[in-house]
Amino acid sequence: MPAPIYLDHNATTPVCPEAREAALPFLLEKFGNPSSGYSMGREAREAVEKARGEVAALIGAAPDEIVFTGCATEANNLALKGVAGDWRGRRLVTTAVEHPSVLNPAIFLMEQGADAVFLPVDEYGVPDLDRAEGAVTDRTVLVSAMHANNETGTILPVRALADLARTRGALFHADASQSLGKIPVNVDDLGADLLTLAGHKVYAPKGVGALYVRRGVKLTPLFHGGGQEGGLRSGTENVALIAALGAACRVAAESLPAATARLAALRDRLEAALFREIPGLRVNGHPETRLPNTANLSFPGVSGSEVLSSAPGIFASTGAACHGPDLKVSHVLAAMGIGGQRAAGTVRLSVGRYTTEDEVDRAARLLA
Ligand code: PLP
Repeated sequence: MPAPIYLDHNATTPVCPEAREAALPFLLEKFGNPSSGYSMGREAREAVEKARGEVAALIGAAPDEIVFTGCATEANNLALKGVAGDWRGRRLVTTAVEHPSVLNPAIFLMEQGADAVFLPVDEYGVPDLDRAEGAVTDRTVLVSAMHANNETGTILPVRALADLARTRGALFHADASQSLGKIPVNVDDLGADLLTLAGHKVYAPKGVGALYVRRGVKLTPLFHGGGQEGGLRSGTENVALIAALGAACRVAAESLPAATARLAALRDRLEAALFREIPGLRVNGHPETRLPNTANLSFPGVSGSEVLSSAPGIFASTGAACHGPDLKVSHVLAAMGIGGQRAAGTVRLSVGRYTTEDEVDRAARLLA
């Protein structure tokens, strides 16, 4: 049996050797607490601070603007819930295509009395900037938009949303979980006051993430305790995974922009082969303004799960699931107005750093 072909890098990535090497000593002999004053503690502290510098460097931030978290979900929750102690009567503007780790905190805040607006998107998954113009009022505390969508790869006009937020006196948060390492992510270029990243989407292990917090932005923490991470994330630091995230970010910084070009070449090769073989195949997401590694495709006349179950050697995701006679379409596709057979036939293929041309060619043959 040939090895499976992993085409689900938007779900998670393998751990790169550099991240593994960085983590191992802190899982094994270097087990000190970074808050301890003796040498073993200082060694752990140095590892955490080195990683903070590496994460900051990748996104154009200062090290003291990085808060390590347990995952991107936590970073998104900290950003949304933390910007206002009391959300009553205040407005949050976000988009209909956000990850549940933004949508659900937004719904939670609505239950606490916030006024949340979910901007609609067009057929490519791009939010309506005219609607945003009207939605971002001077009661708006935060505008939150993902840099790139996890399902379709569509890149959102975050800079325009950030500029709009600024003119109305609101803060801007970007969820860069999917874009980091694939395209440039720079907090100043994006106009972000807060920015989320996820370790396991950039070849670090699961269980670590970070929130960039621009100097001067005040947040209320989710956890109260020993005051680690500048008081924003109490709890003894996860030194091994933080060190791994730092190493992964260093590699990502060294790999760009070549990584973008390589991913795009692989994805385009895969798409071209599939389009040659499968009449009626369609791309979901923006045709150009899209992550270089992502192909969200609608296969004609079959469901996505049928496509994948007939090609068990390929690991990828579908965009809709059948529950008995009902089709449960992802909220992203639904927001883009994609339903029926087109939604049912959706498969997301996402290539990564270690994907080869041979794998892409074999995957195209198997899928066709
Ligand atoms: N934001 C986006 C855009 C994502 O794609 C994901 C994961 O799929 C997350 C946030 C949440 O990441 P985690 O589950 O690691 O917290």
